[in-house]
Amino acid sequence: MNRKFLKRVVYTACCAVVIASCTTTPSGRSQLILKSEAALELEGARQFNIIRETVPLVNNRDTIDYVACVANAIVDELDGPAADMYWELAIVDQPDVNAYVLPGGKIVVKAGLLSVTANQDQLAAVIGHEVAHVTSHHSNERASRAAVTGFGIDVAAILLGGPYGRNTNAAYGALSTGVMFGLSNPFSRKQESEADLIGLEYMAMAGFDPRQSVELWKNMNAANTSRIPEFLSTHPSGDTRIDDLVSHYAKTLALYNQAQAEGKYPDCRR
Ligand SMILES: [Zn+2]
Repeated sequence: MNRKFLKRVVYTACCAVVIASCTTTPSGRSQLILKSEAALELEGARQFNIIRETVPLVNNRDTIDYVACVANAIVDELDGPAADMYWELAIVDQPDVNAYVLPGGKIVVKAGLLSVTANQDQLAAVIGHEVAHVTSHHSNERASRAAVTGFGIDVAAILLGGPYGRNTNAAYGALSTGVMFGLSNPFSRKQESEADLIGLEYMAMAGFDPRQSVELWKNMNAANTSRIPEFLSTHPSGDTRIDDLVSHYAKTLALYNQAQAEGKYPDCRR
């Protein structure tokens, strides 16, 4: 039996145990968290609400409208269950160059990201990436893995950390259940690459220029950020990533041209 196969068998067995114990105790206490996509979405919404209550948010109307304009244009391109989700957006008033997403379509953008994204198309590259994590069910995949490996608190701290010390305890408390879900663990490299390419298609379908994604990654490489943003974590080097994006131009530029032919010219500005 080769090692890879053995690993898969063990992983499958562990998952089976997890799913088997996915029940409610007689007292009504939930014993397991990986019950379904719906459970993950509920937890995503719960965490999102707590973030909105405990972390300072950007109140500037122009900034909110700008990010919402880009996010709406991308979400409008979705179909199936993702189109019916209750997508929400929070812009956190923190200087980090970062964005992330919670299950159920809850997008969190940190204000620092807006200083690195030079235009609507570059912002669309990040938001498209985050939306792709949701439509690809990456959180569920990740949570299942976390259930058998059980790590995540440090990453949780990174997600809600930052200069707002007064919120630290609340943030940890808010995320305690989320950590159990594995929602705070990083996505895998494979998931990140997948989100890149699916996100690129979303932005192009919405009428954003996919070539700006490469400019964004150049900006990111040049920016001296102390933390690795979610959308860059576990990724290959910037040059490899740019090569991947360029290699998909044929498909994404065709989508972009088609969007423009359909009259999709997003005009999102600050
Ligand atoms: Zn990502």
